[in-house]
Amino acid sequence: MQITDVEISVQRRTPNPMPIADALQILPGAGSVTVRLLTDDGVNGEGSVGFGRIAGAPDALAALIEHELKPLIVGQDPVMVRHLHQQMLRETEYHGSAGLATFGICAIDTAIWDCLGRARGVPCWQLWGGVHRRIKAYAMVGWLNYGDDEVQEICTRAVAQGFAAVKIKVGYPTLKQDIARVECVRRAVGDDIDIMVDANQSLTTAEAITRGRAFEALGCLWWEEPLPADDIDGYTALAHGLDIPVATGENLYSVADFARFLKRDAVDIVQPDLRRAGGPTALLQIGALADAFRIPYASHGGGPVQLNIMACLPNAWYLETGLLSDDSPMSLQDGTVALPMGPGFSWE
Ligand SMILES: [Mg+2]
Repeated sequence: MQITDVEISVQRRTPNPMPIADALQILPGAGSVTVRLLTDDGVNGEGSVGFGRIAGAPDALAALIEHELKPLIVGQDPVMVRHLHQQMLRETEYHGSAGLATFGICAIDTAIWDCLGRARGVPCWQLWGGVHRRIKAYAMVGWLNYGDDEVQEICTRAVAQGFAAVKIKVGYPTLKQDIARVECVRRAVGDDIDIMVDANQSLTTAEAITRGRAFEALGCLWWEEPLPADDIDGYTALAHGLDIPVATGENLYSVADFARFLKRDAVDIVQPDLRRAGGPTALLQIGALADAFRIPYASHGGGPVQLNIMACLPNAWYLETGLLSDDSPMSLQDGTVALPMGPGFSWE
């Protein structure tokens, strides 16, 4: 099989006039880029990456894929997917593979795996070999800009849909406000629902320890990304100084970054992001690496690609998703979702 073309399309999006916010940034949404990989035997594959902000980002990424990655990929055999992943990392190393380049590598890597699954008529998790049939899922629903009534209403809806856990943003100016937010959500969801808290890199180490102890006393399930993503010394101090598990990884950009965190005991739960880590090839490596350290894997972001990957990781713990829409292909049973059964990364 030979890749004959990579079609690139940009989906631009009008910024949301009522954007969601976390402790680090405001997220009006900024469209996405989709690549469609064509082969000489007629089997195609698709990969898509989206942006939470930066209106020009999809166009910048489309140019990077067109001029840097596509010339490497066209004419190659998709079964050499891991070799192609290495080639893309090597090619972009000159200006830095971490950043926008990994978004592009992700789109192509996803499209290649999708193509390989479709060529064999099976979901990718069956190509790789499964270990789970269902995956626990939680709802990330508590944005920082929501008022108390709003956050209670949306968390209540998540529980009504069947979620057994909800995640909320924290990192308000004061600990008192953070505690009030957790207590407000606890009143809405009751005692049997787990609550995770996420401060999106906004605190100092000392403040993260103080707030972490408070969240631990409130019974929160994990304490997510309280420090800047690359502060490995700070995360080591947190992981050693707190009993509540510390989760991080959505802003790490390579398998080697995760290796450094794992070796330093700086993370209790890894949370790789498909786009920033560089696609399914990288996530499978990160998941296996974390498993060797007996560290659980919780996805950053949801969707069928993350589900296919988690199906193959013994340490898969929690899929992140939002509230389920009426036309969602996912439904919850005992707080878990079924795996996609369509070829490649498709749902059915
Ligand atoms: Mg997060």
